[in-house]
Amino acid sequence: MKVLVAGGAGYIGSHCVRQLLAAGHEPVVLDNFVYGHRAAVPAGVRVHEASLADPAALDRVFAAEKIGVVMHFAAYCYVGESVAEPLKYYLNNAAATYTLLDAMRRNEVKKFVFSSTCATFGVPAKLPLTEDMPQAPINPYGQTKLDVENALRALARAGEFSFAAFRYFNAAGAAEDGSIGEDHEPETHLIPLAIGAALGHRPPLQIFGTDYPTPDGTCLRDYVHIDDLSRAHIAVFDRLAQPGAALFYNLGTGAPTSVREIIAAVEKISGLSVPVKFGPRRAGDPPALFADSTKAQTELGWKPKFQTIGSIVETAWRWHSAHPQGYADR
Ligand code: UDP
Repeated sequence: MKVLVAGGAGYIGSHCVRQLLAAGHEPVVLDNFVYGHRAAVPAGVRVHEASLADPAALDRVFAAEKIGVVMHFAAYCYVGESVAEPLKYYLNNAAATYTLLDAMRRNEVKKFVFSSTCATFGVPAKLPLTEDMPQAPINPYGQTKLDVENALRALARAGEFSFAAFRYFNAAGAAEDGSIGEDHEPETHLIPLAIGAALGHRPPLQIFGTDYPTPDGTCLRDYVHIDDLSRAHIAVFDRLAQPGAALFYNLGTGAPTSVREIIAAVEKISGLSVPVKFGPRRAGDPPALFADSTKAQTELGWKPKFQTIGSIVETAWRWHSAHPQGYADR
């Protein structure tokens, strides 16, 4: 199947492109290269440089390619920035997605896979998180993703359109062969910051809060390997054949891992020590978030290949230690 990957030069999109190729599909990348990296796109994959907010450009892409499914990863992803500059998120993550959906409607492309987030749940009343738990985001990032989820529900109800929305927990790791990986600027995520601190390329890691009601006082998160996430997006294709399908899946390994456990994993794999500083809690961080992914396992036959935090951090280490400056294209 020919698959348009919006944001295909970004962290999650670029890993998905490779998994699509491995599964025998034909990915086509759409990216505006604000955050995407050209080197993250494999040779031979067609790239359209365009903004999702440009309807005429989208029409040109759909006219040039006979697209079967659109996968959408093109979003801003900084929670703190979304609080400081909410309109940036409403325009890019919500409004531009509606422009993309409208272009799909005009061009009669009816299958959509959406990159959503566990941030749509806000602070959960119960753990692990199942798909049917109440969604009450606590920042504009999570809110704009939930807004799109709701628009998708309405679209599926209204006609022939079908979609799957995946709520990721903490996307982590890199391609097993070390060829592509995480490179955000600025970087705010724990694993690359911890590895960078160990390598001496970044300042000591600041641990955000040691007084949480968790076994070691630091936050618990559910880290899931980027290639496992990608495989779920492809496994859902068959189900999108059903017009009106409205599918939601939480994707995580279900294993809560603390900040201190991540540091220990980085130290074990690298053989280096991670210099740390202790800081206050970061605003908007729930103490614990982890997924119940039974639905994805049952309906899609999805089973994360990377079950341990060590196996995930090992792939991240391989990428970051070989590419300390990331793609070095900024
Ligand atoms: N974290 C930390 N120091 C950092 C970055 C993150 O202690 O410099 C913690 C953060 O408070 C959270 C966990 O690491 O509990 C994962 O944070 P990250 O930003 O990687 O992902 P998030 O859970 O915010 O999506």
